[in-house]
Amino acid sequence: MKVEEEIRDIFSHMRGVIEAYQDIGLGPPPLSADTLRFLSPDQSTNPVLNIRNATQPEDNSDQQIHPASLEGLREHIGNCERCKLHQSRTHLVYGEGSPVAKLVFVGEGPGVDEDLAGRPFVGKSGKLLTKIIEKGMGLTREEVYICNVVKCQPPKNRDPEKDEIEACVPFLKKQLQSINPEVICCLGRVACQALLGSGFKITLERGKWRSYEDIPLMPTFHPAYLLRNPSAKRQVWEDVKMIMKRIGLEVKTNG
Ligand code: SF4
Repeated sequence: MKVEEEIRDIFSHMRGVIEAYQDIGLGPPPLSADTLRFLSPDQSTNPVLNIRNATQPEDNSDQQIHPASLEGLREHIGNCERCKLHQSRTHLVYGEGSPVAKLVFVGEGPGVDEDLAGRPFVGKSGKLLTKIIEKGMGLTREEVYICNVVKCQPPKNRDPEKDEIEACVPFLKKQLQSINPEVICCLGRVACQALLGSGFKITLERGKWRSYEDIPLMPTFHPAYLLRNPSAKRQVWEDVKMIMKRIGLEVKTNG
């Protein structure tokens, strides 16, 4: 690929990300101050920010879509083709549960069962998560909210790729903004890194309170990991108990 084509591709990708954030009413994506400065040495001639200024959105709010509700956001996402994952999906798996949930679980992405059902966490991992919610916490799935970082199933259950996460994570952020829960529980590395940064190490940092946009966030293992490593259930239960205390639920001593 020629250098010019490569640069054009990079700008095109960045423009897509900036527009996706702006379309749903989020601020600019988390670029460092240095990157923004690099992108905008002179805003009147800058090829990226001149398309739409990411740091100072144009005042055309009547034309931009700012879905405030979960339903409005779902409508806005539509039959999404913003990343290549749309090519292999059966259903887009948006998320489900209470729009005013105190607790939101965030996973990585739909698997085969979820893709077929169009619902999050309904396969083997989902059954385990449901058990944690119902038997462990004494709640129902309807009382919490369950969603993923990417809304379409990655082929062969591979990890979502960087460009796919970048395209889809604005929707997750808008869901969290809309629900404004008391606690977010991130399940597994991909979800944690999507909200806390790529340096997050799940094995070292799970079980310690973090925060996302001032919302307390508990990182813990993904249920799929627990199915492969049942001994880690004890650690997850410790994390779940901390969440329960935080949202005012009674913790049973025998777990
Ligand atoms: S994964 Fe997200 S961004 Fe990609 S097509 Fe699906 S809904 Fe759109």
